[in-house]
Amino acid sequence: MWKYFLPTKIFAGIEIISENAELLREVGTNAFLVTGKSSAKKCGALDEVLSVLRGLDIPNTVFDEVEENPSFATIEKGGKKLSASGCDFVIAIGGGSPLDAAKAISVIGMNSECDCRDLYTGQNLPAFPIIAIPTTSGTGSEVTPYSILTDGEGTKKGFGMPSTFPYISFLDPRYTVTMPADITVATALDALSHSVEGEVVNNGKNPLVKMLSREATGIIKEFLGKVLMNEDNVSLRGQMQYASTIAGIVIAHTGTTAVHAAGYPLSSFKGVRHGMANALMLIKVFRRIANADPERIASAIEPFEDLDELNAFLKKFGVERVDLRISDEEIEKWSEQTVKASHLKKTPGNFDKQFFAQLYREIKNH
Ligand code: NAP
Ligand code: FE
Repeated sequence: MWKYFLPTKIFAGIEIISENAELLREVGTNAFLVTGKSSAKKCGALDEVLSVLRGLDIPNTVFDEVEENPSFATIEKGGKKLSASGCDFVIAIGGGSPLDAAKAISVIGMNSECDCRDLYTGQNLPAFPIIAIPTTSGTGSEVTPYSILTDGEGTKKGFGMPSTFPYISFLDPRYTVTMPADITVATALDALSHSVEGEVVNNGKNPLVKMLSREATGIIKEFLGKVLMNEDNVSLRGQMQYASTIAGIVIAHTGTTAVHAAGYPLSSFKGVRHGMANALMLIKVFRRIANADPERIASAIEPFEDLDELNAFLKKFGVERVDLRISDEEIEKWSEQTVKASHLKKTPGNFDKQFFAQLYREIKNH
């Protein structure tokens, strides 16, 4: 038994927003734009969206304060601004951080009595409709309901509700061309980890998810090196954007595994980019799963031949060269937290606190 569900309308191509401007009228009459601090301007997406809105006579308010790994404080500030603005739909432009932030801001903006803690109570709250315009190719946030926020203690926490699935995603690869090499690599490795982790959870049960995972992994395997050699090539950037979005569709059906859970503290407390943090954990977690179920891993990483080939691929993009200092107290605290993460329920194999403590110790020794 399997089911496939994606409520998001996807429009992809060069100048896709201006080509489909009239669609915005269906969504609302007053737009609230959520972006990071500078890249939405730098990549040209913000100006293009503002010009389309002007052409449609749709007024707007811009909230451009979203930081990497968005905090509860920023979300609550954005939510208040949205409530007060009179806007009735949200346009998110940026990497996963602004896209995730926009989902939470949209919920809090509509339910002004709520704060971020209310996002994690399991209730389904309504939200203003969200339009997602990704400028990185990694998180797949443009096709998932998930939003990963950072609480007051620095811990990353994910939530998702039916209302936080974007209503429309506009994919224009031109907006991803300005990504510098380190962000191109980290985001591509995030997409790769979604693709293979998702298939570990799926284990062939949903044939559409299997097909999308194999396709996404294959594209990243083939094109990541080429993109880095030709950073201005929009068509190659389009391949990565496509792979990242379909890997997002994979995790919209499966969620992620212990790889993501183990990576979170590295991003929260050591500033390691999210995709790089996953990549550092991937091989060791997958070898552990493979001990119990080698076929499951062999199938999930297709078209990589085996974990050695995948490991060599990750190394080629600098995965072992992250230099980190992690204290014994941090190892103790992180391994305790990671072993309790909900991702563990989806991860086959036996994972105990000692495994994660050892994992963090080995990362430290790189
Ligand atoms: P990000 O945190 O959104 O952005 C990283 C950096 O890249 C920022 O400095 C940003 O600048 C810059 N940037 C973005 N687009 C650019 C462009 N086109 N040109 C130049 N610079 C650009 O990165 P991300 O990896 O896409 O998102 C990571 C976040 O998503 C994490 O919080 C992670 O936990 C979350 N995530 C969510 C999901 C999900 O399913 N929702 C899945 C995986 C990860 P600005 O700050 O100026 O914008
Ligand atoms: Fe991720």
